[in-house]
Amino acid sequence: RIVVVGSVNMDLVTRVRRRPEPGETVAGEGFALVPGGKGANQAIAARRAGAEAEFVGAVGDDVFAAELRRVLSDSGVGTEQLRTVAGPSGVAAIVVDGGGENTIIVVGGANAAMTELTPADLDAIAAADTLMCQLEIPVSTVLAAARHARAHDTTVLLNPSPVRELPPELWAEIDVAVVNEGEAAHLGTVLKAVPHVITTLGAAGANYRGADGETRSHPGVPVEVVDTTGAGDTFTGALAAHWHEGPETALSWACTAGALATTKLGASASIPTREAIEQALV
Ligand code: ADP
Repeated sequence: RIVVVGSVNMDLVTRVRRRPEPGETVAGEGFALVPGGKGANQAIAARRAGAEAEFVGAVGDDVFAAELRRVLSDSGVGTEQLRTVAGPSGVAAIVVDGGGENTIIVVGGANAAMTELTPADLDAIAAADTLMCQLEIPVSTVLAAARHARAHDTTVLLNPSPVRELPPELWAEIDVAVVNEGEAAHLGTVLKAVPHVITTLGAAGANYRGADGETRSHPGVPVEVVDTTGAGDTFTGALAAHWHEGPETALSWACTAGALATTKLGASASIPTREAIEQALV
């Protein structure tokens, strides 16, 4: 069982031929509301890859809250610890221009209000096999969750994204880090202290480095790429779901799931099921 302590957002995706200049209005080409947030995406990915998953997080008291809640529970992710707080839900305002270039503004909203863990949250963490976190909620909450997990033999997996400077005492609580190449370069030597580090390499797959110096790599799974949004979250969720089977097996599930996620448009909608991953496993 995996507990995710993390973010859930509504992505507001607008498509435009050309971005407006300051003060200018332009006609958009399309619009979609897409549930996302790294925490929610990774919880759904872990569930679809075959694990039981529970989400600890917050939505606001706005019109997006019910839909965010529904997407998680319809995916089979436990939402007992999902609370409602006053104010807006987390949102990401995304503009995709004619060249396929994205600009994104994330407003933390209810995710920024995730400053406390309840006794029931802590019980869920203690009872889980794995705690999975990202950095779209306050770092102090990630640290509290990680400390409690470690004290109860729950494996702590961190995807340090969006990447930033973290307190050294947080790194001391991490068992497994999942980073892309940009995050690996930014974090540099602090990753050396983490027992298990997985680095994703886009179309080239991923590699693994263990505390004992053991290394593994898995090649990219060739696919027809449509949209890479959500590939990293899908990879991380699938890796967590299969971590107990050892790094080699976990890497192959994760690389396959991540590749399949690029073959469909959107983040949460493109996350493959266990059956689809199993069929494509190499
Ligand atoms: P992020 O999206 O977080 O920057 P990556 O680009 O490294 O991370 O992608 C994460 C994982 O998704 C990769 O390790 C790989 O398994 C899969 N993936 C991403 N892009 C492709 C691609 N073009 N072809 C096949 N697999 C891909």
